[in-house]
Amino acid sequence: MSPPLSTPFLNRIRSLQEERAAVEAFPIDELVTIIREVGFTCDLCGRCCTRQFNGHVFLFPEEAERIRAIDVCALEPPPVYDFCDQNGVLYVSGYTIRTIHDQSGSCKFLENGRCQIYGERPGICRIYPYMLHREPDAKGVSDWRQISGLDQHGIYHTKITRGEAELIAGEIKQFEDRVLSQEIVFLECISRYFSQRNLRQVRKRYDDQLRRLRAGGMVTVMVFHSGHFEGWKVRMTLAEPLKTSNYAQKKEFNSGEDREVVLQGDGIDDRF
Ligand code: SF4
Repeated sequence: MSPPLSTPFLNRIRSLQEERAAVEAFPIDELVTIIREVGFTCDLCGRCCTRQFNGHVFLFPEEAERIRAIDVCALEPPPVYDFCDQNGVLYVSGYTIRTIHDQSGSCKFLENGRCQIYGERPGICRIYPYMLHREPDAKGVSDWRQISGLDQHGIYHTKITRGEAELIAGEIKQFEDRVLSQEIVFLECISRYFSQRNLRQVRKRYDDQLRRLRAGGMVTVMVFHSGHFEGWKVRMTLAEPLKTSNYAQKKEFNSGEDREVVLQGDGIDDRF
């Protein structure tokens, strides 16, 4: 029998479930109106495809697999970690797409302002810039706002038909619902993973490991992907070449972070 979920994880799961209910209840007409008012059109500036402008690209598991099939070295752990256990191992939910070593940390598939995998691009790139922002209102209750990067790139106030806006609105709600569902699954699995292995989250170790990274040290990161964890070695500055693993090795520097990631193929692949 699976061990019960521990309280900190359970509390987070409950709050995500509430958010998911709020996404479901968010009036689609309101979203349609917003989308039509904004009327965003891409002008191929490429800014949205950079880490400097938008952080990292969120991927669902099947998107990560699709992208890995296109380029085995295209994935890496996102640079924001969720948990750290008492042994200093960091945990994160899902993969992101690598960025290249340019000034703005461009997605590795961005070339001359064009996406090289346009037909295969992930959901977040398809609905962009129409995400919902989950922010508490004045009373601390989650309110729902759009939109990412408003007026900072692209062309606005172009004509979008009601039918087009309804399609986009439906995709946004589906996307947000899936993001929250994925986060809930991650929390359920990591709670069990920790309790089966006598692990616990230690905030101080988390802070220590981030300091270690900033100082050029290497850390182990477990990426939750398709129901299991895949182990990586990550460091931000390269002091010396790393040993080649039996999976794959990729050295790449990201602007701003100079992070090198190496897929560790020596047995860290804990399935549930
Ligand atoms: S996958 Fe394509 S659309 Fe998405 S961030 Fe990369 S270059 Fe941009």
